[in-house]
Amino acid sequence: MHEAGLMAEAMNKAETLAMQCNADAVAGLTLRVGVLSGVALQALQFAFDAMKPGTVFEQAELRLEQVLPRLSCRDCGMEYAAQERGQRCPVCKGSNTSLLQGGELELAKLELIVREDRTS
Ligand SMILES: [Zn+2]
Repeated sequence: MHEAGLMAEAMNKAETLAMQCNADAVAGLTLRVGVLSGVALQALQFAFDAMKPGTVFEQAELRLEQVLPRLSCRDCGMEYAAQERGQRCPVCKGSNTSLLQGGELELAKLELIVREDRTS
């Protein structure tokens, strides 16, 4: 399962950040998921629920934000919303494009629980 590996990677990264902030637990985790990333949201959620028991994510809520594709044209510099990779530029009709967003899976937001009574 592709998504389980990606979810584990995101959770590792989030856990490292949480440790760096001396957090006790994670309250919420937001991931940006590009619609062209080939990642199924239900599978991510399933992987998260399966892996979180006994971890800092035990109480955490997973939020998945879908990111619509945007392309940029290397010929004329136009940036535009697209439905798929390689969709032609609406201005110059060129096909020399690159994907700006919509293919990513990244950590967008992390809400941490930090206990305040830990001074000693
Ligand atoms: Zn163009």
